Amino acid sequence: MARLPIIAGNWKMYKSLDETRDFINGLILHLKNTRCEVYLAVPFTLLDKAYLEARASKIAVGAQNMHDELEGAFTGEISARMLKELHAVFVILGHSERRNLFLESDAFINRKVKRAIATNLQAILCIGEKQNERDEGRTEEVLTQQLDESLKEITKEDLKNIVLAYEPVWAIGTGKTATPEIAEETHKFCRSYAAERWGDEAAEGLRILYGGSVKPDNIAALMSKPNIDGALVGGASLKVESFAKLIHFDSP
Ligand code: PEP
Repeated sequence: MARLPIIAGNWKMYKSLDETRDFINGLILHLKNTRCEVYLAVPFTLLDKAYLEARASKIAVGAQNMHDELEGAFTGEISARMLKELHAVFVILGHSERRNLFLESDAFINRKVKRAIATNLQAILCIGEKQNERDEGRTEEVLTQQLDESLKEITKEDLKNIVLAYEPVWAIGTGKTATPEIAEETHKFCRSYAAERWGDEAAEGLRILYGGSVKPDNIAALMSKPNIDGALVGGASLKVESFAKLIHFDSP
């Protein structure tokens, strides 16, 4: 089964309203002949603006995080319902910056994944090992634990609304990309995990993105691997010029 690639930009805590307008209008000029889905995960304050600028195009706009409750006394948080009201179509969950800087647990991420699906928001679930865990040969053990716990009680049907992003923590924002071979091996492992849990058909349909210092000069080699179905991109998604090259990974 052919899986449609996704190239997703994660803007993190960058960009103003004007910069969002300029970026999206610039990117729209590069969408022709792209054979992938184009996602932008923007800060909450830019969701409305990004939606309005992108709505006549194929660009999908989403968020970078959310709380699992729909409302309540959670100062500073945002709910799935609020994101939907702002037309978000997907949400990144479990990004390593959320796990490591804001101490989010797999149990919390699991509740968010379930809430996203129940609210009809596609969830991009991030998993990934740290440098010392890879050095100690524990990558598969760490990923299995993250998958078991953050996808607890997720059914085969739910999986259709989930995209996995393998992001080795040592490769995020460091300029140190996993080699295509390392990334492929790990993606293959994640797909086998999915096949064992939800069956071959569900695993074949699951899109697994790679994230970690993806740039115009390394994306083609990564995307040539059979189990890499796209990229989640931080730094290189901030400039139209580099992001436009990424969405044309297949045309040199
Ligand atoms: C990310 O934020 O998910 C990411 C992969 O960042 P970068 O591309 O900058 O490494």
